[in-house]
Amino acid sequence: MADATSLLLGLEGLEVTGVVTQVDRVRVVDVVTTDPEASRCPDCCVVSRSVKDRTVTRPRDIRYGDDPILLRWNKTRYRCVNQECARVTFTESISQVPPRRRTTTRLRTQIGRSVGEAARSVSEVATGVGVSWPTAHAAFVEHAEQVLIDPQPVRVLGIDETRRGRPRWIKDADGRRWVRVDPWDTGFVDLGGDQGLLGQVEGRTSAAVTDWLTTQSEQFRTEITHVVIDPSAAYAAAVTDTVLPNAQVVVDHFHLIKLCQRHRHCGATSGDLRRSRSPRAQT
Ligand SMILES: [Zn+2]
Repeated sequence: MADATSLLLGLEGLEVTGVVTQVDRVRVVDVVTTDPEASRCPDCCVVSRSVKDRTVTRPRDIRYGDDPILLRWNKTRYRCVNQECARVTFTESISQVPPRRRTTTRLRTQIGRSVGEAARSVSEVATGVGVSWPTAHAAFVEHAEQVLIDPQPVRVLGIDETRRGRPRWIKDADGRRWVRVDPWDTGFVDLGGDQGLLGQVEGRTSAAVTDWLTTQSEQFRTEITHVVIDPSAAYAAAVTDTVLPNAQVVVDHFHLIKLCQRHRHCGATSGDLRRSRSPRAQT
């Protein structure tokens, strides 16, 4: 019975010792640890047999059927037996519930895929699986960090601003005046290849651009031959600030013509416009 139920639960390293249904139809599943590696200290990795006491935790897990499942994990707390280790005690951990986690790995994977691959909102997924918004968001970030690869070198880099949400009004430092805050991001796009969006950072300042560029590899920075921007002094300063030694700044034709029309006294010649046109400038 226990073997079959443990198999059905499918959490490696745990064995089901009992299942009861509460009046609210929640099924309470009692589990104990079977993984011998669970008694390894998370800091020094030395296995301990010195039991201090026992405790119960309730890690959140994926849904199974219509009614919720509440896991009740009866864990052992060990003393670390390694004299060199600063940790005094620790409780059992398994790969599905690593140290300091309150959700199972498979639940976090499910949340990450639901947001990152099925494009569902964080709040919708959080409500559906019964976790808080920060927990769901952290699971999504964890998932994204695993699947996103570093940008590969590009020849033509596009830099442009994107508004992120509506303007907000906040009190200034004295708490006397309301100050308008416009949330802007800066996006980096591969205009000569097919990588699409390479990165996005908060702000639209020179520092925001410089910081992102300096976190890329030296090869990434040296292989850029053209940087396409709107007529932004902040972006131009960041690019010509020796961060990109081989790049020529190009103002894309859409933004240039828009600027001309706005001021109605454009002195640019058609040759200037041709030179400003990037190989695949897009808007
Ligand atoms: Zn230890």
